[in-house]
Amino acid sequence: MRIGIGYDSHKLVEGRRLILGGVEIPFEKGLLGHSDGDVLCHAIIDAVIGALGMGDIGKHFPDTDDRWKDASSIMLLQHIVELARTNGFEVAWIDTIVITEDPKLLRYVDSMKRALSQAGIPVSVINIKAKTNEGMGFIGRGEGMAAQAVCLLK
Ligand code: MG
Repeated sequence: MRIGIGYDSHKLVEGRRLILGGVEIPFEKGLLGHSDGDVLCHAIIDAVIGALGMGDIGKHFPDTDDRWKDASSIMLLQHIVELARTNGFEVAWIDTIVITEDPKLLRYVDSMKRALSQAGIPVSVINIKAKTNEGMGFIGRGEGMAAQAVCLLK
């Protein structure tokens, strides 16, 4: 078995759709990024890559590569789950935290799990938690969001 950890943060800006865990969430701002800025997917991707011992998300999907511009992060995650399979591993468990003051995410958790399962990770092995940052720091000021993930591969 192997374990990996992932972290990501993105800036919240006007004029972008908010995509989290592969789900579009109605909100006045979205996450800035070369891809769709899906901070939850990116944290999961880094956790899986970490468990594989294969570097990080930037190595596999460089933001200088136009192939990944505005790419769906679910597609990037699918690519990494397939890479794990090629190397003889299945995702046994993913636990995550999304940290943001707004919007409230609880009601989107089931849709996010279903969207993530399209990348090849069964709904039954994904947990998603949503937290605020109690008004502190860049997250508390609504300037951005962060996500953390751990992944167990077997
Ligand atoms: Mg990112």
